[in-house]
Amino acid sequence: MARRAIGIDLGTTYSCVAVWRHDRIEVIVNDQGNRTTPSYVAFTDTERLVGDAANNQAASNPINTVFDAKRLIGCKFSDPTVQIDMTFWPFKVIPNTSNKPMIVVNYKGEEKQFSAEEISSMVLSKMKGISETYLGSTVKDAVVTVPAYFNDSQRKATKDAGAIAGLNIIRIINEPTAAAIAYGLVEGATFVTKNVLIFDLGGGTFDASLVTIKAGVIEVKAIAGDTHLGGQDLDNRMVNHFIKEFRRKNGKDISRSPRAIRRLRTACERAKRILSSTFQTTIEIEALFEGIDFFTTISRAKFDELNMDLFSMCVEHVEMCLQDAEMEKSSIHDVVLVGGSSRIPKVQQLLQNLFNGKELCNSINPDEAVAYGAAVLAAKLSGDGNDTVQNLVVLDVTPLSLGVHCDGDIMSVIIPRNTTIPTRRTQSFHTAYDNQTSVMIKVYEGERSRAFYNNLLGQFNLEGIPAAPRGVAKINECFDIDVNGIMTVSAEVTGTRVKKSITITNDNGRLSKEEVENMIMNAKKYKQEDEEHRKNVEAKNAVEDYAYNTRDTIRGAARLRRADKNKMEDAFESFIQWLELNKHAEADDFEDKMMELKTIFDPIIAKI
Ligand code: ADP
Ligand code: MG
Repeated sequence: MARRAIGIDLGTTYSCVAVWRHDRIEVIVNDQGNRTTPSYVAFTDTERLVGDAANNQAASNPINTVFDAKRLIGCKFSDPTVQIDMTFWPFKVIPNTSNKPMIVVNYKGEEKQFSAEEISSMVLSKMKGISETYLGSTVKDAVVTVPAYFNDSQRKATKDAGAIAGLNIIRIINEPTAAAIAYGLVEGATFVTKNVLIFDLGGGTFDASLVTIKAGVIEVKAIAGDTHLGGQDLDNRMVNHFIKEFRRKNGKDISRSPRAIRRLRTACERAKRILSSTFQTTIEIEALFEGIDFFTTISRAKFDELNMDLFSMCVEHVEMCLQDAEMEKSSIHDVVLVGGSSRIPKVQQLLQNLFNGKELCNSINPDEAVAYGAAVLAAKLSGDGNDTVQNLVVLDVTPLSLGVHCDGDIMSVIIPRNTTIPTRRTQSFHTAYDNQTSVMIKVYEGERSRAFYNNLLGQFNLEGIPAAPRGVAKINECFDIDVNGIMTVSAEVTGTRVKKSITITNDNGRLSKEEVENMIMNAKKYKQEDEEHRKNVEAKNAVEDYAYNTRDTIRGAARLRRADKNKMEDAFESFIQWLELNKHAEADDFEDKMMELKTIFDPIIAKI
C-alpha cells in the first residue's frame, strides 16, 4: 500500500484531522481527547504551546497567544481587512519591508517575529503529530482544505505553511467541496442527480457552494463567499457592545487592556454559543477592569440585532451562488449546514426562509465534515480506501475571474469565475504600435470590469518581440490553473522562441524559496526545543516524585534508626531548596540530582 495520507481541516478557530483506517474515515482525537483542536499558538518564557494548551492560557498571556493566523495568511499588511482585524487582536502585528504582516511575540525572553505561514505551520505540525500518535507511524502526505473563496496568494501561502511543517500537501481542496464529499459518502451513492447547497459558516470565513452529486461524481457548479466573515466577527460585535456598556456604567474604557478584552471575548463567545439554545444568558466576569466586576445579560434578540447585517450578507452570497449556477431555489434537494456558526438559529431561519421553508439537512457533523471529506480525498489520492472512495470523481471550480490588464484599465477576463479546474485557457493579441518589442503583462483576479479595482496578482515584461508594423506580431497568453486552484501564467510570441512564464509570486509578499527553507529549519529548531522542554519537565517531575515518595516511605518506616531518618530529612530539605532555585534546569541536572538522592536514599531504603 502507498503511504498513508491524512486530511486536515486547517480552520480559523479550530482544526480537525481525519484518516481512512479500518475501512472507514476516523476523526482523530487529540492529546486532550478532543476531536477538534484550537488553531492557537502561544509563547511563554519557557515554552511554545499549540492547540488546547495555548487556548487555555490565553487570558493570562494574551499578547503572546496567537490565533486567527488564517485571516492574515496570503494578505498584505495594508489590506483593509487586516487593518480592521488588528484592532481586535491582543497580539502585535507589524509590516515587514515587503508589506507582509508579521506577528510579534515574546518567546523565552526574546522578541520574535512570525509570518502567518509559520504560525499556521505550527498548527499543521500539531495536527500531523496528533495523527502520528494515533497511527503509530510518521505521516508525510496530507490533503489540506482552504475556504473556497481563498485567492491565489492565500492558497500558495497555505502550501508554504505545509512545507514549513514538513508536510507534503498532495492536494489543496475547497472546504465546502470537502464537506460535499462527506455528504456524498454519508448519504450513499445516488443514481439520481442531487443538487446540494453547502452552507459553511465557520469562525473566520463563509463559503456557499452549489454542488451536484450523481453516482460518485461530485461536481461544484458555483461558489460564493467571504474570507472575512464568520463567528469571530459576531464575537467582535458583542465585544464592542459590551465595551460601550462598560463605559456607560463605569465611565471607563477597557479597550486598552488586552487582558480585559481577552476575558470579555471568551465570555462573549461562550454566551453566543449558549444563545443558540436559549433565549437569554448572562455574562459574569469578576474584576474585569480596575477591580470592577462586570455582570450583565444579553438576549438572543439583541445578539441577532447586533449581527443582522452580517447574517444578511450570508444570505446574499447564497443567492449569488444560485444565480451563478443558473439554478432555481426549488431545484435544490438539500441545504447542508457546515461550520460551528451554522448552529445559530437566526442564520438557520433566514436560510430556511430563502428556501421557502425547506427543512435544512443535519446528516453530517458541522465540525468534522470538512476534515472527513479531506481524508476521503487523501485516501483516494494515496490509493487507499474502498471502491466507493476510489471511484469518486471530484470536479471543483475557481472562485474568482482571472484576466489581464488591457488598454483603458480594462480587465480582460481569460478564465471566468466558476470554471471547472484544472483548466488551461489561451488568448492571443497583437502588438499595439509599430516596432513594439516588449509588452507588460499584468495578471488580475476579481469581478470588476476596471482592472484597478481587482487584485493584482503579479506582472512580467515580455521582451524580444521582433520589430514589425503594429498588429503583425501575435502574442499568446496562457493561463493554467492546477487541481489545487493555483495558477501559472505564460506568454509567448507565436512563431518565435520568445517565451516567458511566471508562477504569480512577486507582488504579494509571498515567501521566497530561501525564506521557506529558513522557516523549515526554524520549525525543526522549535520542535527540538519543545521536545527538550518536555524532557526537562519530565525529568524534573521524575526526581520530584521520587524525592517525595521516598521521603514518605522512609518517614513511615517503623523500625529505622533516628540517624537514618535525619539523614534523609536533611537530604530532602536541601533538595527542595535546590529545586526552588533550579526550576528551569535541564534534564541532565535533574538526572544528576536523582543519582545524588539515590546514593543517599537507596541504602536507607534497603534497611526497611
Ligand atoms: P473554522 O472552521 O473557521 O475554524 P468552525 O467551523 O470550527 O470554524 O466554527 C467555529 C466557530 O463556530 C466559532 O466562532 C464558534 O464560536 C462558533 N460556534 C460553535 N458552536 C456554536 C454554537 N452552538 N452557536 C454559535 N456559534 C458557535
Ligand atoms: Mg471550517
